[in-house]
Amino acid sequence: MIIDGKKEAEIIRSEIKKEIAEIKSKTNKTPSLTVILIGDFAPSKIYVRNKEKNALEVGINSQIIKYPSNISEEEVLLKIQELNNNKDISGILVQLPLPDQINKEKIINAIHPSKDVDGFNPINVGNLSSGYKSIVPCTPLGCLLLIKKVEKNLSGKHAVIIGRSNLNGKPMAQLLLKENCTVTIVHSKTKNLQQECLRADILVAAVGVPNLIRKDWIKNNAIVIDVGINKVGEKIVGDVKFDELRDKTKAITPVPGGVGPMTIACLLKNTLECFKAHQL
Ligand code: NAP
Repeated sequence: MIIDGKKEAEIIRSEIKKEIAEIKSKTNKTPSLTVILIGDFAPSKIYVRNKEKNALEVGINSQIIKYPSNISEEEVLLKIQELNNNKDISGILVQLPLPDQINKEKIINAIHPSKDVDGFNPINVGNLSSGYKSIVPCTPLGCLLLIKKVEKNLSGKHAVIIGRSNLNGKPMAQLLLKENCTVTIVHSKTKNLQQECLRADILVAAVGVPNLIRKDWIKNNAIVIDVGINKVGEKIVGDVKFDELRDKTKAITPVPGGVGPMTIACLLKNTLECFKAHQL
């Protein structure tokens, strides 16, 4: 089975659109998302434009605040403070990466946890790892939704996650722990990566190394989720050698068209959740 992330994302977006229209007709209120974009990094510009387009399509008010790459940290922090205090703003996102003069940690800490649609603020990270209600980072949330489309009950499954970033690997591990999986996280210092991957009922690859995972790295009928987005020549490929693995898996995500579309759908989901929690 090839997991169609595009289709699943479309379903989520249409549910969100319907819910927002209903809320608007009852309360005349609308969720809103503010994205701060600093500098001229081309991929960031594309991501931000995409986020805005998708937000507007489902009825979320969206604004992009653009700053030149030499903006001071203080000015960005002041803007975040202003957005935190603005009751009309449901969600705030600062597009990463940031220029060198701006401390990423300070920026993430400055976004109020209740408006932190990326789920990166340590309060949200702590809530997630304590098993409490929290805003969950968009990509791992999207991965979990795709896994649960294939298998509803994950209890007792062995999940292996390749990558330990705050963005992907660590929150993914927390989400799968919450689903009662036995979780192994592997990374660049892991000895015998292949052996670890062979134990996986569920394998999530969030590495950034093209085609790292080969057919003889997985057992039969594993569920394989490929988070990687790697440019090889003109092609975008994942961390998994898709053509080799597809017939051996129970289900697998393609790249593109797997996890990617779910990330933005989950950002819209998080924005709606922030709005419902604090503005309704
Ligand atoms: P990251 O911060 O660079 O983390 C990569 C992780 O992979 C690190 O933990 C690193 O280990 C580990 N790693 C690197 N090389 C390895 C190897 N040869 N063997 C085993 N582990 C290795 O990356 P990220 O931000 O999590 O992103 C990972 C990938 O997902 C990238 O391709 C990115 O473009 C993609 N991505 C996709 C989406 C989406 O929507 N689909 C969203 C975000 C990111 P160490 O910790 O030891 O260095």
